[in-house]
Amino acid sequence: MSRSRDSQESRFLFFGQLPEAEPMNKQIEKHRAEVDSLDGQLLCLLNRRADLARQLGGLKRNVGLPLHDKRRELEILDRLQQYNSGPLDNPSVERIFRLIIRESRRLQAPSTSISVRTSQAPETKEDEVMIINMREGASEQEIQHVIDRVKEAGYQAHVTRGTERAIVAAVGSNGRRHELEALAAAPGVAAVVPISQPFKLVSRQMKAQRTVVDVGDVEIGGGTFVVIAGPCSVESREQLFSTAQAVKAAGARLLRGGAYKPRTSPYEFQGLGLEALRLLSEVRKDIGLPVVTEVTSTENVDLICEHADMLQVGARNMQNFALLRRLAKVDKPILLKRGPSASVREWLLAAEYLLAGGHRDVVLCERGIKTFETETRNTLDLAAIALARDLSHLPVIADPSHGTGRRSLIPPLSRAAAALGADGIMVEVHPCPERALSDGPQSLDLEGFSKLMRSLAEPLRPMSE
Ligand code: PEP
Ligand code: MN
Repeated sequence: MSRSRDSQESRFLFFGQLPEAEPMNKQIEKHRAEVDSLDGQLLCLLNRRADLARQLGGLKRNVGLPLHDKRRELEILDRLQQYNSGPLDNPSVERIFRLIIRESRRLQAPSTSISVRTSQAPETKEDEVMIINMREGASEQEIQHVIDRVKEAGYQAHVTRGTERAIVAAVGSNGRRHELEALAAAPGVAAVVPISQPFKLVSRQMKAQRTVVDVGDVEIGGGTFVVIAGPCSVESREQLFSTAQAVKAAGARLLRGGAYKPRTSPYEFQGLGLEALRLLSEVRKDIGLPVVTEVTSTENVDLICEHADMLQVGARNMQNFALLRRLAKVDKPILLKRGPSASVREWLLAAEYLLAGGHRDVVLCERGIKTFETETRNTLDLAAIALARDLSHLPVIADPSHGTGRRSLIPPLSRAAAALGADGIMVEVHPCPERALSDGPQSLDLEGFSKLMRSLAEPLRPMSE
């Protein structure tokens, strides 16, 4: 009660008492000064909050508590929305505070990534990064010695102190590399690893632990094979609800459904847009599956964030750099599909745009590439799944629907993806594929999907058979 009265009073103070006769420019100046002063206060408050979060991280580590407490985060968001008296609406409040919470979480966790010049990171192709991994328990003196030697060799040194060990990243293009390599023999050094690939933040060398991406209450990359299923396009309430119910019952953890469809021909079904987003929101609430849907342009990012739990960057947009830069700032996990003509390197560089812009929750999706083969729509590049998991710490899933274009090939390729270590699959499912407005031939019907799920639970054929 008193909080809402306070906020009304403060609004009255800031905006309600301008004399009628005051010239317009004066009023604007006054408002601007007020805005600047509020920004300063907000910044102070945010930094105080960040400082507390960092201290909290240390306390939690000391008593062995997990850093990430999802329940508490949801409580914070709920409370704020209950107290909110506008003019910001609740979705905006949620978006802003999710971002604040995410940044606090980042401060709590011992970082293993180096600080890069984010605005330039993807372009610094000529830059080489060498990582000097210090041994567990290396002394401050040993770390300082390495830093001094890195500088002497003509590189910048970026130090990251993790809970167990420190790493020193040597960045630059004009240094003497052999002097860095020689540091392998320096006291306290475990290994010197070059990161000469252009992708750095997504690289496995930069971060040895695999990234786990949370989508609602589902973890992708945490060791469980996650199945995402649903129609290519959202077509109607009936179609979406019956599919969602069936895929959930069969064991899918996330629902997919296109609202904005990037179609090769302008005469094909382009998606229901906002109507589809509303249906996705409804089904998420009623059936309880987090939803993933495609974002096709920078213009609909905010709108889609209001309705979806995860944003898909489609194959055709993998190198839409304006979109990637914009998405780097959203507080929703991203599913990044590989372009049909993109190399693995280009795919990882697209992910680098997201990470360099500040995002961390990115899942890669192999969905088939163009080859000379005409019997399948695309060629699902299984080797690329294994390679991407080798080169990067990000989770990787397979899309055997787009990867083959043929319903009959979905089960064998799903099993192949599981066998080679993929973190999950995304499959198109439709209650009546022959009536689907898009991608019917590569969609399983409801019974076909539940058969697929049963087959994924079966053990692989033993070697001796
Ligand atoms: C989709 O998932 O429906 C889609 C259009 O996929 P892609 O971008 O891989 O073609
Ligand atoms: Mn499709």
